[in-house]
Amino acid sequence: NKTILLKNRPKGKPTLEDFQFSDEETPVPAEGEILLKTLYVSVDPYLRGRMRDEGSYIEPFKLNEPIESGIIAEVIESHNPNFKEGDYVNGTLKWKEYQTVSGHGINKVDKNLAPLTVFLGVLGLTGITAFLGLEKIGKLKEGETLLVSGAGGAVGSIAGQIGKIKGCRVIGIAGSDEKINRIKQEFGFDEGINYKTSQDLQKEIKEKCPNGVDVYFDNVGGEILDAALANINKFGRVILCGAISLYNKSEIPKGPRPEGILIKNSVLMQGFIVRDYAKDFGPAIKTLSGWLREDKIKYSETIVDGFENIPQAFLDLFEGKNKGKMIVKI
Ligand code: NDP
Repeated sequence: NKTILLKNRPKGKPTLEDFQFSDEETPVPAEGEILLKTLYVSVDPYLRGRMRDEGSYIEPFKLNEPIESGIIAEVIESHNPNFKEGDYVNGTLKWKEYQTVSGHGINKVDKNLAPLTVFLGVLGLTGITAFLGLEKIGKLKEGETLLVSGAGGAVGSIAGQIGKIKGCRVIGIAGSDEKINRIKQEFGFDEGINYKTSQDLQKEIKEKCPNGVDVYFDNVGGEILDAALANINKFGRVILCGAISLYNKSEIPKGPRPEGILIKNSVLMQGFIVRDYAKDFGPAIKTLSGWLREDKIKYSETIVDGFENIPQAFLDLFEGKNKGKMIVKI
């Protein structure tokens, strides 16, 4: 039974050396427990934060202990009346091929409703993050301009499509021309900006958002956030969802001071942690499944094969190798 432990707390960009593989006996479920076989593992940028020994909204991983993330698993054996053999479940689980759990915090997923991987993506925390970030902070109005960074990724590609459903002009920022083409052609974004080749991001945002930015959904932080804030409109809303451009930095670079424009334009800039809105997950999933059924939302996934490739798939997020949700199939 293979398992992956955190060997070192990464300094800067994580490497394969920071992960340790080990092999152990497959556990036997006790009374009240279920035995799970891992099928799909979600790798996510926020896991980088849990590798630091710092208090945050979620506790750090312990050294030499298994890493955990969102996982879809199959129930192989059940001694818990709430689950039966053959059920599929979703939960925050350990990077192990097999594991036993009590069932607390584990949800059943219905394979007939959508392909299993979708419960890690658009019908999982990814889609819920995009939906609730916009719902709770963005409060989009028809005709407004929505700017999204990380637009070719899991959360960003859904956020942009929700903007289109709400009747907004949507502009996405991503790291390659291929991703820019995809967000326009597949996901219906009106315009895209490649931040890696842009000569002057602030100016390009201004050109592509001639009416300014009403809502900025930020997945990346840093200089892209600076350039977006310079274009924010009166009563603009900024959703601070993620700051991947800073996750591997040991020292956070100083930027321009945005308070002038934020005050002048009465801008709301608010941090967002999806887990703080757990009571709203049910209605969010209901709306997202409706849109999915009606084909109003499309999703894309990068599926990597093999348990041994989980660490590499995680590292690849920081190189922009994923198109949409990054998932490892076991
Ligand atoms: P993505 O699918 O967007 O994958 C990460 C993407 O980030 C890469 O594909 C890459 O695309 C981009 N990226 C990597 N490095 C940089 C960089 N230095 N500057 C700019 N872009 C970079 O991941 P998710 O959709 O899962 O997550 C997106 C963000 O949302 C993350 O910051 C994550 O932490 C956050 N998040 C927050 C949640 C919350 O509750 N607040 C919940 C879920 C996610 P490219 O080719 O464009 O560079």
